[in-house]
Amino acid sequence: MLVTNHVLSGAIIGATARGPWAAFATGFASHLVLDAIPHWGRFESHEHFMRVAVADGLTGLAVMGAATAAARPADRVAVFAGMAGAAFPDLNKPSKIFFGHSFFPRRFDEFHGRIQDEAPDRFRSHELVAGALFAAGFAGLVLAGRRRGRR
Ligand SMILES: [Zn+2]
Repeated sequence: MLVTNHVLSGAIIGATARGPWAAFATGFASHLVLDAIPHWGRFESHEHFMRVAVADGLTGLAVMGAATAAARPADRVAVFAGMAGAAFPDLNKPSKIFFGHSFFPRRFDEFHGRIQDEAPDRFRSHELVAGALFAAGFAGLVLAGRRRGRR
């Protein structure tokens, strides 16, 4: 699954969690759940994978910044922690590219690779739909929190 979608779902987790540690742990677990449900992947070439990965990584970082800024001040650290936990398992990819190896235990990376349910024709039908739902869910939580805060 796109790291941007992991980040967006992590923002929802952070906005609803009982503090930053719970948000990070739940975000981390959510990553594995989302990777196991059908999503977009299996690119025809390494170049295609890299183009998607770089655009997705930069988008994910931008979303992390925007969601942290949009979160209610009381939720801000937990929202950031939820997103960081949700994105964390995918740090094996930049780690392999920049350092030549993953810093996760080999068994974890094998498990992470084995659970993937990927197909190349699922960008619009799965990633875009999931991204829109996660973004709308987080926006709804932020707006509901603002309204609650005003009373
Ligand atoms: Zn993953």
